[in-house]
Amino acid sequence: MATTSDSRDSGGVAHYATGEDLSYAALLERGLDMGVLISEYVTRAGVQGVRTLARALSLVPSEQHAHESVEAINAYECLKSTASAKQAEQACTLEDVVTADRNAKGIREKHPSWGIGADVALARHESPRTGVQFLNYSRILTEDLSYATQGLKDGTITEDEAQLIVREVRNLRSENRRLIDQMLFCETHNAFGSGGAILREMIRGWAAILEPGAETDLEEKAMKARYIDLYQIDAHRMKITGLLPLEYGVALCQVLARESGHAQAAGDTRNRGQIAADFLLESLTGIREPNGIPLQVSLIMTDRTLLEGNQEPALIPGYGFISAKKAKNLFTGNPQNPLDTWIRRLYTAPGTGDLVAMDSKARLFKGSLKRFITLRDQHCRTPYCNGRIEHLDHVVQVRRGGPTTAENSSSRCKWCNATKEAPDWEECTISGDRHTIRVTTSSGHIYSSTAPPLPGAHSQSKHPQDE
Ligand SMILES: [Zn+2]
Repeated sequence: MATTSDSRDSGGVAHYATGEDLSYAALLERGLDMGVLISEYVTRAGVQGVRTLARALSLVPSEQHAHESVEAINAYECLKSTASAKQAEQACTLEDVVTADRNAKGIREKHPSWGIGADVALARHESPRTGVQFLNYSRILTEDLSYATQGLKDGTITEDEAQLIVREVRNLRSENRRLIDQMLFCETHNAFGSGGAILREMIRGWAAILEPGAETDLEEKAMKARYIDLYQIDAHRMKITGLLPLEYGVALCQVLARESGHAQAAGDTRNRGQIAADFLLESLTGIREPNGIPLQVSLIMTDRTLLEGNQEPALIPGYGFISAKKAKNLFTGNPQNPLDTWIRRLYTAPGTGDLVAMDSKARLFKGSLKRFITLRDQHCRTPYCNGRIEHLDHVVQVRRGGPTTAENSSSRCKWCNATKEAPDWEECTISGDRHTIRVTTSSGHIYSSTAPPLPGAHSQSKHPQDE
């Protein structure tokens, strides 16, 4: 029996009937608009439709000719842009829906958006603290930059370009953001044909004319936002990164250049970068020779590595794995290169690599329990965060009867420790080989966070996942 559909006007499938040829070729023959059909399907199927679309795309074979290959790469770039625009719109809708609901119920009236960014970030496999930034970006994009939003949807600009635009206009008044948005998409400016640096300069030039006062605000913000950070990038190197107000940065550059210049003029054979690095270390620590650096190291290794010559790597918590050979050198000391090294050696349980647990009756995580939790977790335990440990947290809060034990503990950055107080956010531990926390976000999505593997662990860390 034929069923009628009002999709005839929109170009979708006109009607269905038993025995009718519904093959792709036959539908095409009838003048079916495939774009309208797919859009209609995804609209009706919702999130499942989007996932089906992604699965369908993953099955598309690669193009075999050079020209088509480049076309395909560009088409996939458009797809990423479109998805990015839809994600931004969806993030704003989520915030609107949740805040309206909380306002109606009188929950967290001062901060009705609390925790929403974390939900967005975890869905994007990112650190919770970046979720708020993404929400702010999404707001400015969708509310003030209608041309950029459309450009992203059409795939004429990329997510990187959209983020650059938002970054450059975020301190401007709404009407000026809109004006710049409009000018950027005026063809005569060719704003997206010359790369990020030109695009940035173009926006900054217009912003300086439209709103000269914003410059002073930015200077103040730059001063407030100054920081220096150090982090490990591989087994042998650390990177210094940071943000400095322009005058600090210029002063630093000049001093380093001067020191390098003087040293080389006096016959120093080190290159300029090496001289600058050594000068920085000496200025900050007073240490001239790298061998004279006093180290305080916690070394986690299996007894097999130390006693049986096993090649299993050891771990310096917070810094990463080192080779068995280096671990043994650190432990036994190298008479040729005597480091003033204080080693705290911890063994891991065979098979699981879990440290041996210990409990405390105290309310605060202190002493050996604190050290134990920090060593076990190494970073903030919220999925995707990996932030520096700033708090030791009760997984189940004390006010809910959570005990002060290694089992009920987790290391957190400041941000995540606050985020877990968002409405309906719940956490508990679940049993397993390694310490595992189950996180239920405000929206009801569930993630798990397993403590990182330590030497001696045979099983791999389970990735947090949507359930
Ligand atoms: Zn964190």
